[in-house]
Amino acid sequence: MRIDLHLHSTASDGTQAPSEVIATAAAAGLDVVALTDHDTTSGWAEATEAARRTGVVLVPGLELSCQWRGISVHLLSYLHDPDDAGLAAEAARTRGDRVGRARRMVELIAADYPLDWQDVVGATPDGATVGRPHIADALVARGHMASRDEAFDRVLRTGSPYYVRHYAPDVVTAVRRVVAAGGVAVMAHPRAARRGRVVPDEVIAAMADAGLAGLEVDHRDHLPEERVALRVVARELGLFVTGSSDYHGAGKQNKLGENLTAPAVLEQIEDAARATEVVRP
Ligand code: AMP
Ligand code: ZN
Ligand code: FE
Ligand code: FE
Repeated sequence: MRIDLHLHSTASDGTQAPSEVIATAAAAGLDVVALTDHDTTSGWAEATEAARRTGVVLVPGLELSCQWRGISVHLLSYLHDPDDAGLAAEAARTRGDRVGRARRMVELIAADYPLDWQDVVGATPDGATVGRPHIADALVARGHMASRDEAFDRVLRTGSPYYVRHYAPDVVTAVRRVVAAGGVAVMAHPRAARRGRVVPDEVIAAMADAGLAGLEVDHRDHLPEERVALRVVARELGLFVTGSSDYHGAGKQNKLGENLTAPAVLEQIEDAARATEVVRP
């Protein structure tokens, strides 16, 4: 069984619509995928319909933007109640603040690279959670950059003078909200140090106390030694480990199924979930 539990669509910053993501996953020979768009579940309905049609098993999910003392942390939630008021309100607040944040980044960037807010609006699919990848697409459309990767390297990376933070909930609070919504919480790419600062192990322990279930260990942003260290942390805290692609369509190098999750871990996720069922054909 080939199980990939971290995929993005045009509901956030992926380049394919949810149904195209599912069709591409089917063609790539994946058996189970999770749709985990940033701060939104708006792709679930279309992905569910496409999964039933293609025979791919779908785990509806979400990648919640969080922070610990200003350090960005991503939290995957699987199979929560999409209508849970607490979690939905938190995601909505983040989505809303992402708009103002993107506008401020455009103002800063425009001093050096001519760019208007309308360029970003034009690069963002209707209703999508706006993020830096859409600003990247606008820079590419304007001819300033050749690719999202170049735009991140030169302008958008965390720590660049054009970088602006957005609102995000505290990560321990976020774990509690996911659990309260019946979901299963997995910390995304916990040691992706090349992207920016990462949280110390004590924070992962506090998340575990709050109900965190797993760590996404096998991810392309982790070096081999980081994976070894994370497996030790997971064992000590009683967390399972996952592996995923973090697929974004054509917007990133990440290939579907480049990292996989064990079937026994999927069973643990299903057993722990209390709100939404896995979609099976
Ligand atoms: P944001 O959530 O708006 O801060 O944007 C961060 C997102 O940008 C990450 O979650 C990735 O999906 C994406 N990203 C990060 N680095 C790159 C890159 N080099 N090329 C394309 N997308 C990237
Ligand atoms: Zn993304
Ligand atoms: Fe992420
Ligand atoms: Fe992601």
